[in-house]
Amino acid sequence: MKKYFSIKGRLLTPLVFAFALVGMLFEGHVRQLERELSDEYERIEREFFRASKMLTILDYSLNNYIKVRQSLILSHTAKIVNGVCHMRPKLEIDAGDSPNAHLRALEYIIVGDKSLCDKNSSLYHEVGFRIALAPVISLLHDLDDYLIGVHYVDPSGYIISSPDTLSVNATTDVLEQIQSPSWDVYQDLGENQPIKVRGPTILQELQSTENLISLMLPVYSDHQFEGVISLNIMLDKLLNANQRFVGKLHFIDTQRESLPTNAFQPHSLQDEGISFHHAMYYDMHWGNELYQFVSLKRKTLILITVMYVLVVMSFLFMNTRHAKSYYEGLAVRDPLTGLRNRRGFQAFIEHSPHQSYVAIAMFDIDNFKAINDHFGHDIGDDVIRYTGDQIRCHIRATDTVARYGGEEFVLYLTAERKSYLKKTLIRVKGALCDESGTVVEGGFTISGGVEIVACSELHDIDDILKSADEKLYIAKKSGKNQLIF
Ligand code: GH3
Ligand code: MG
Ligand code: MG
Repeated sequence: MKKYFSIKGRLLTPLVFAFALVGMLFEGHVRQLERELSDEYERIEREFFRASKMLTILDYSLNNYIKVRQSLILSHTAKIVNGVCHMRPKLEIDAGDSPNAHLRALEYIIVGDKSLCDKNSSLYHEVGFRIALAPVISLLHDLDDYLIGVHYVDPSGYIISSPDTLSVNATTDVLEQIQSPSWDVYQDLGENQPIKVRGPTILQELQSTENLISLMLPVYSDHQFEGVISLNIMLDKLLNANQRFVGKLHFIDTQRESLPTNAFQPHSLQDEGISFHHAMYYDMHWGNELYQFVSLKRKTLILITVMYVLVVMSFLFMNTRHAKSYYEGLAVRDPLTGLRNRRGFQAFIEHSPHQSYVAIAMFDIDNFKAINDHFGHDIGDDVIRYTGDQIRCHIRATDTVARYGGEEFVLYLTAERKSYLKKTLIRVKGALCDESGTVVEGGFTISGGVEIVACSELHDIDDILKSADEKLYIAKKSGKNQLIF
């Protein structure tokens, strides 16, 4: 019975269900994160594909200019800063020059050895063949948010970049480095090779302040290496444009580092035109993810909590009711036979409707001690149970029987006629004794004292019981196995 009313069980069972529900919701949240990550990876790969197309177009234009070998004349300003020549498009309207306001869109710089500032130098003429590239890269660097800029590095010692801020910090050391054929950036830049990916890294020649990814395409003219064009991408802007994620996306060069243990859903980048050896992954922190899950699904979680509290409360309510009726039952029932006890009998008399006449009978098994002594206490118990069952079976649902003491039973019967009550009691007693051989060898008999009264006389039940008991005594004294009315 303890188990039946266990509070722990009542609290834990719905809690397990609530947790299972929350677990399923969280699993759904993680599945959705996986889908969104796949979409995000696809978007990033598309952006790289777009960038590679721009680069190819740039390479094509530059190649053409180099082949034509026609120096393009544009007005430039030239200035030497810390031993480095800075050439910028000339935007002011000079006296005599035609207005060139459209050139304001040009935002590039050519940074090179200081001889570049000398119009008679060979470097100045070299640059003339490639300067056509500058306006195009000026346009490209603005196209996407994540593009920090485009630059062209020429081993003859200069850099063209857009925006101009990109290479403005290049020093003489940088210019020396780009002239060295052994510079690692120039390695593996074969003709007709896929686009090379550099980074994530600080681009040395630009002295960039943050990690960039650079898509590099070498420029060849008549199978002769001319220089390299790079499209520079701000990783953080490209990767973390999607604000839906609580964690960050990371991009690594798998030749230089391996995936960390918390890398969630790693994805190797692939593109036919780009030689990637890179992977992306989501930096998963379960605590943060759980926090975001809770804030996104707050309403559902509140609903589950409310449902949990309601279920627990209704369980507790049912529990209290069950316990109440159980203990009430215990107070009015005899545990051996399941019949009413004295208290139950009194309650029955008080609350049930009576017909014109009521019989109160007191039955007592004859020589019960001898049954106990001869067959044992357990058989004695069986006899008591049998007696209770037999009486119950032979009376109407509106009547009742109670166990009053060891092997004493009190019966209540009600009817419109006295004769009916008498006949029923004789029948009950007869059936009980006749079939008693089924429960104990040789059977047994029973004696009883019966008091039949009009229902109006039922007010003092104790008196009636006393009279019935006196008649029982007479029945015992005068030979047993009989009812005295
Ligand atoms: P009598 O014919 O005069 O009634 O003789 P008796 O032997 O039946 O005498 P009495 O009614 O005094 O006997 C009651 C006995 O019932 C005494 C007790 O040991 C036994 N008894 C009381 N309660 C239980 C019970 O729950 N189980 C069993 N097996 N015996 C019980
Ligand atoms: Mg007896
Ligand atoms: Mg007795």
